[in-house]
Amino acid sequence: METEVLSVREVDKAAEIIKRGGLVAMPTETVYGLAADALNGEAVAKIFRAKGRPMDNPLIVHIARVEQINELVSEFPEKARILAEKFWPGPLTIILPKSDRIPDEVSAGLDTVAVRLPGHAAARELIEKSCPLAAPSANLSGSPSPTTAGHVWQDMNGRIDAIIDGGACEVGVESTVISLAVDPPRLLRPGGITPAQLRDAIGEITVDSAVCHPLGEGQQAASPGMKYKHYAPKANVILIKGSAEAYIRYVNERQGKNAAAMCCDEDTEYITLPCISMGKENEHESHAQRIFSLLRLADERGYSTVYARCTGEDGVELAVYNRMLRASGFEVIDLEK
Ligand code: AMP
Ligand code: MG
Repeated sequence: METEVLSVREVDKAAEIIKRGGLVAMPTETVYGLAADALNGEAVAKIFRAKGRPMDNPLIVHIARVEQINELVSEFPEKARILAEKFWPGPLTIILPKSDRIPDEVSAGLDTVAVRLPGHAAARELIEKSCPLAAPSANLSGSPSPTTAGHVWQDMNGRIDAIIDGGACEVGVESTVISLAVDPPRLLRPGGITPAQLRDAIGEITVDSAVCHPLGEGQQAASPGMKYKHYAPKANVILIKGSAEAYIRYVNERQGKNAAAMCCDEDTEYITLPCISMGKENEHESHAQRIFSLLRLADERGYSTVYARCTGEDGVELAVYNRMLRASGFEVIDLEK
């Protein structure tokens, strides 16, 4: 299959591909998504084949107007309305009991469906001109999520019909996922919308233990995607907790191992290994925006090990921490201990 690269002025063409049951990678404000007609099970099955995604990992359905949720869910409770009103369009996915229009391929056999209204204009235009779109991240399953059309091309050239090139993604990590199918609502995946923002809007929420911890033996994942090793480059990623000074000392003791330091701008002048920087230490949005492209860069440069600095676990940093835990396969060194 020839993969066509389209500009954001060629969304009509992309909409035709979707209506024929094809696959289009689209820009969103979080990461690039690999989209198919959400109500066409056969089209959705192609997403799983193109990505090599396990069939038991459900997909998020993307809409362009809040009213479109009505045909997708069987209930739209008050708390969901409040969240939609406050955070849509934006990087928040809401899980609700599904309607019987949702194909099994989308919900992976669960009785719920995940829905999001993205902020990116090209994504919304594509939905308006076609239909609600099932779309996971447009990478090969397991590898870092794509935040540019070039990343999508690296993974998906020859496997999908088209890519809409909408430039680099603004948020850089996938959406926050919250389930309103349980009470109290439960955060299943951290993202650009923080737990504090969610509590401000709807009161008590819980944070699923899989956000920061590996699943125990025999434990079931509330969000099936959380059980897989994820986002991992070929390099071995090790996550380092502790002060900036302790981190710098630790990485400088690791010379000659074809290793790199994934650090902050302020650290680079003190580090003797090659550095790839997430940005200034306190600019957390920048860490989120760069994390996946830095993991891909590590592979392009052929590093065998990446020592990644953990700068925090609050706010947007929770999303970065969650992705780094998975990229490292939970290999964490705590220098304070
Ligand atoms: P991706 O689209 O690749 O970013 O992955 C979507 C994430 O949302 C995965 O972690 C899924 O397991 C999760 N997800 C999607 N639908 C549901 C659902 N109905 N219940 C729980 N988790 C879901
Ligand atoms: Mg993904």
